[in-house]
Amino acid sequence: MAPRKKGEKKRKTVEVTETKELQHSDAEPSDGSSREEKMAQKRKIKSKKKYIGAHVSISGGIWKAVESSVAIGGHAFALFLGSQRSWTRPALDTAAAVKFQEACAQHGFDPIHILPHGSYLMNCGSPKEDVFSKSQAMLVDELSRCSALGLSQFNFHPGASIDSTPEKCMEKIAQAINHAHQQTPAVITVLENMSGQGSTIGGQFSELRSIIDRVRDKTRVGVCLDTCHAFAAGYDISPPGGVKNILDEFDHVVGLHYLRAVHLNDSKGKLGCHLDRHEDIGCGQIGITAFREIVNEPRMDNIPLILETPGRPGFEYAEQIELLYSLCEKKKKN
Ligand SMILES: [Zn+2]
Ligand SMILES: [Zn+2]
Repeated sequence: MAPRKKGEKKRKTVEVTETKELQHSDAEPSDGSSREEKMAQKRKIKSKKKYIGAHVSISGGIWKAVESSVAIGGHAFALFLGSQRSWTRPALDTAAAVKFQEACAQHGFDPIHILPHGSYLMNCGSPKEDVFSKSQAMLVDELSRCSALGLSQFNFHPGASIDSTPEKCMEKIAQAINHAHQQTPAVITVLENMSGQGSTIGGQFSELRSIIDRVRDKTRVGVCLDTCHAFAAGYDISPPGGVKNILDEFDHVVGLHYLRAVHLNDSKGKLGCHLDRHEDIGCGQIGITAFREIVNEPRMDNIPLILETPGRPGFEYAEQIELLYSLCEKKKKN
């Protein structure tokens, strides 16, 4: 998806259970602290709740991602760590990294709710030796950048077998991950499930499991579940109970403890179409029921839930985040 410039929409009420209190906080606080500081405190108070946000742009400086997320009412966010066009990137600017971390702290974003997305150039499963070695080196570079930014996890597409076999491809992906783990400190590599388009690996949960089985340090591997990709790969989350069923299957095949994040996207394509075509929430073939179930699914508490939707006039990220929070059911008091 192409990062879009966000409007300067005023932050909306997003707290799940303390709606009234948050609306009240829209006014400037009287104790001298800024409104944003108050919002940051609210984030910290929130526990076992939903952390919804979007993939935001880093144009103008990596810290801009934080500001954009605040502007759209996000409580989590995703970002690229550099250009999507080049294999080689300029070294991360130390001052920019400090500014990024300060902005995260100021606005109350915990690193576990920030999910950097890997470059689309990488194919860690490529049978071509030059592409594989460049991808392996880029994975190391991406993880190093995460560390420098104080981030704890990194999401990427596993890879594609091209003219090789899925088995060989999964072996290479695991090899690249093991290599990157050796070269870098403790950032968690988060594999994204795919739509199964072409020769891409990771459409089936069993393929993610096979890669994880080959990763030596299991504490440094996880999965990001993309709803559009899952649906396009044939996992029907659209009917009532669909999300629960697919999560049960994920737990059985991969293991729920590996679930680190979710990408919230509706799908332009039909169930099992294998096309990676994201649609705005509730506007595609998946429909709103699945997203209502996700935001009320306790097994998806406390992990980043990231929008990667195209957006349309009047229904951009801010409105989609607001919609998703409005679907959260108030907890009954016993
Ligand atoms: Zn992705
Ligand atoms: Zn995704």
